[in-house]
Amino acid sequence: MIPMVNLKAQYAEIKDEVERGLAETIENCAFILGPNVQAFEQETAEYLGVKHAIGVASGTDALHLALIAEGIGAGDEVITTAFTFIATAEAIKYVGAIPVFVDIDPRTFNIAPEAIEKAITSKTKAVMPVHLFGQPADMTEIEQICEQYNLKLIEDCCQSFGASINGKQTGAIGHAAGFSFFPSKNLGAFGDGGLVTTNSDETAAKIKQLRNHGSDVRYYHDVIGYNSRLDEMQAVILRPKLKRIDQYNQARRHVAHLYSELMADLPLITPYEDNLGEHVYHQYTVLSDRRDAILVALQERQIACAIYYPVPLHQQNVFKDECAGLSLPVTESVSSHCFSLPICPFLEDDAVREIVAVIRSV
Ligand SMILES: *Cc1c(COP(=O)(O)O)cnc(C)c1O
Repeated sequence: MIPMVNLKAQYAEIKDEVERGLAETIENCAFILGPNVQAFEQETAEYLGVKHAIGVASGTDALHLALIAEGIGAGDEVITTAFTFIATAEAIKYVGAIPVFVDIDPRTFNIAPEAIEKAITSKTKAVMPVHLFGQPADMTEIEQICEQYNLKLIEDCCQSFGASINGKQTGAIGHAAGFSFFPSKNLGAFGDGGLVTTNSDETAAKIKQLRNHGSDVRYYHDVIGYNSRLDEMQAVILRPKLKRIDQYNQARRHVAHLYSELMADLPLITPYEDNLGEHVYHQYTVLSDRRDAILVALQERQIACAIYYPVPLHQQNVFKDECAGLSLPVTESVSSHCFSLPICPFLEDDAVREIVAVIRSV
């Protein structure tokens, strides 16, 4: 049996540090915004090369609060991709804004800069690219468009912790960014967690207020806020993982490159990697005309396999009416041919060979 991710192997490596940290936290009883959240915020800000990192309750909240803090609200249009997890668009809807879905680059599956430019109207206020599957979106182009049209750039980094482009980390490029620490993400907690990053002092101050009931000073409330803090226990778990994140991402790249090498002669499309950025392979995603047959064969051998994402957002029931008539040909084609193979820092070369042999047999 080969799972999509092997969290048990990772835990074995950090068990001592985690258990010690959790025991200390329980002894100290500093459960809300305690010393580990503060330390983790400093450590992530330093790692990402960004002025502020603020721990929140989830990746979805991180995007939601980032949009509020950047002043995106009712009736504003936010240009984004339909080839993503639903939370990208949910965050936009939470603030009353309108997600405007545009098509993707067929090679990277990330939002296509030329499609962004075509979708800009007088109501457009922001662009929200997703660094999908751990590969940075084309930020040089996107940044330039946002500057030219005076739009907020809010990065969805929920799959891209540690990825970089042109020497900059994802999450350090836009006005603000949201990260997720959902357990299966590249940097994952043992429950939910998230992070907002920004270089703006003003945005950072707003996020700190918003995550804590709209309050800077306890029992004095300036705005309607939320209960959305990164949990202290989760910060304890994330800190030893953060220390090892480069090693984990490097191991993911090794797995990905081995897959691509072993499948180079097969009639399917392996992930495209440009030389601008560092892909951290949150997922290893392939396109094939024989997807169904491959999924069946893998299943028979107890090898996990998943489709991210089978239905693009503009075709989801929740957006069907709002997006009636919208056609995104590349997105639609990719979502009907894509499948993702097991990948994690602890996947052995022999397992990769076994998986490829099954695909080859099909
Ligand atoms: C996981 C994910 C989110 C949401 O993160 P949660 O922590 O689960 O709320 C948002 N966007 C993308 C692209 C994701 O993969």
